[in-house]
Amino acid sequence: MPGIGRRFWGDWMDWNEAAALPYYPGDDLGAVWTPERTVFKLWAPTAQRVTLRLFAAGTDGEPDAALLGEHPMAPAGQGVWCATADGDLNGMYYTYRLHFADGSDTEVVDPYARSAGADGARGMVLNLSAAVPQGWAQDVRPVIPPHARCIWECHVADFSADPHSGVPKSLRGKFRAFTLPDTTLDGDGIHPTCLNYLKRLGVSHIQLMPMFDYATVRETAPGGYNWGYDPLNYNVPEGSYATDPFHGAVRVRECRAMVQALHKAGLGVVMDVVYNHTYFADSWLERTVPGYWDRRTAEGKLTNGSGCGSDLASERPMVRKYIVDSVVFWAKEYHIDGFRFDLMALEDADTMNAVRAALDALPGGRDILLYGEPWAGGATRMEHGARPADKSALDRLDARIGFFCDNTRDAIKGNVFDAAAPGYVNGNYGAGYQLLHALGAWRGGEGGFTPKAAGQVVQYVSAHDNLTLWDKLCATAHTKDWDNPDETLLAQNRLAAGIYLTVQGMPFMQAGEEFGRTKHGCDNSYKGPLTRNRLDWRRAYAPGFRELTEFYRGLLALRRACPPLSGAAGEPAPMVQALPGWLIGFVTEGQDKAEHTGEMAVYYNPEPVAQPAPLPAGTWRLLAQGAQAGAHPFGPRQTAQLELPPRSLTVLIAE
Ligand code: CA
Repeated sequence: MPGIGRRFWGDWMDWNEAAALPYYPGDDLGAVWTPERTVFKLWAPTAQRVTLRLFAAGTDGEPDAALLGEHPMAPAGQGVWCATADGDLNGMYYTYRLHFADGSDTEVVDPYARSAGADGARGMVLNLSAAVPQGWAQDVRPVIPPHARCIWECHVADFSADPHSGVPKSLRGKFRAFTLPDTTLDGDGIHPTCLNYLKRLGVSHIQLMPMFDYATVRETAPGGYNWGYDPLNYNVPEGSYATDPFHGAVRVRECRAMVQALHKAGLGVVMDVVYNHTYFADSWLERTVPGYWDRRTAEGKLTNGSGCGSDLASERPMVRKYIVDSVVFWAKEYHIDGFRFDLMALEDADTMNAVRAALDALPGGRDILLYGEPWAGGATRMEHGARPADKSALDRLDARIGFFCDNTRDAIKGNVFDAAAPGYVNGNYGAGYQLLHALGAWRGGEGGFTPKAAGQVVQYVSAHDNLTLWDKLCATAHTKDWDNPDETLLAQNRLAAGIYLTVQGMPFMQAGEEFGRTKHGCDNSYKGPLTRNRLDWRRAYAPGFRELTEFYRGLLALRRACPPLSGAAGEPAPMVQALPGWLIGFVTEGQDKAEHTGEMAVYYNPEPVAQPAPLPAGTWRLLAQGAQAGAHPFGPRQTAQLELPPRSLTVLIAE
């Protein structure tokens, strides 16, 4: 890290002091490159003097690492410092040195830097339009209708690091692994892996765990691993995912190539973003305007609502602007199709609405997804009447800002904080009362919160945090035989998926849930090792798990083929049937309401025995039952009565 500052822990501006600083509305912060000159602008209203420092290399350790020159920056109004350097600076590295009235000084990477040297300790001047893969100008976002959305969450390295992935060793764990369209298991030419596998799974969007530049993995030494919730440079792709972290254009080009390849496969790309905190309390942001960026308690101590350090004060105008600018930058320059806000309750609701409005203003921007975790990791302190963007702020939040629904998650498979606690599919049948509310995406307000639209509600049972679904089912069955495709657990798994993929809302799943992904009981693997985290592609084709993957594929096809299931077009909550015991059954509207065709009847049987259930009037055919699911009806016509297999989902469509 360049020049460690020394004043930040003690300094704090209260709301009035912060509000007295000038606001800068311009869109030209950072290093704006042209062939003739580069213009540098930094918002630092409390600095007394600022110097631009230019380098030929991105790290101290490289040849030509020495300082090339220093340029004093001049005040340019509204708290901004400006310097212009003539000539073509593309590929040059830089930092800023700031001096304050009390005699202290510090050095920072430009918070608006477009790229960086290895380990992110120097920013980089970049001609963004040249750091592109072939065909980038023709890259377009795939058009995905709202009812067909299903998110698949993965980590860039986990995706391809398995030595059996069929990806060449040099590209495993890298952005570029996503660009290989035809990989197979150990190169056998038969069993698709990675992108080749995703092309036929049936999910619509790939959510990537943080891929901006994070702090804890050494980019200059291979072998590190982290989930990446430790932000360093918000507008720079992570260097350890690039084949060359030393030259800042490479990570930009390779990250874009990943997005392009996913788009070509018809998949959207959602970026997991962590604007709630910075990894270092002594962050570049806090160094530039000490006391402005981070939240403090009334006593002036840093708050820790993230559980990982200092919280950014999103409600302050320049912090809000920074978050909005950064999201828009990724949407425009990397063609990102959605943003998942980590610990969204640490953002204030007005900031989230400002992000939504800024995305909506882009061409096609209304289709860009925006959702987040409606909770925090601890106490924070918002000022000036700002409201946390949690479930209680749904009245304030735009109807196209979504949230992860822990109510549905825990009702299906049990509480995430108590490994042995079951849900509806694994023994706690009473949780079915909660699921009745999940059917209509909780829009009746039964959970103590009131979504404005079904599409706001992210329906899921597993994500990177906590146990994988398979490990949770093992925990509630009191077994540690994680690699055994036990029939009961497979049935519970199918029912869990069957529920969140037939209720209204936007479905979401952790990568590999569909083949019983296991971390062998580890409920927090954020620091690695990679061997525990990476997708095990052999498991996708192992007996028992292979059939589970096929079931998911069929279920996803069913979901896409039956738009009313999602509630995305404003359909009312489905009509619940009165059924005996712990059975749940409901009927959705058909695609043709006047003709009553295409109505669907859905049943969940969580019990270990087969049970009879009445069918509504009409003639029905199966779309899913037991281990089979798909978009096309199968089996004989059914009327009046049917039998539900043990621990099963059954879906029928009216003829
Ligand atoms: Ca990094």
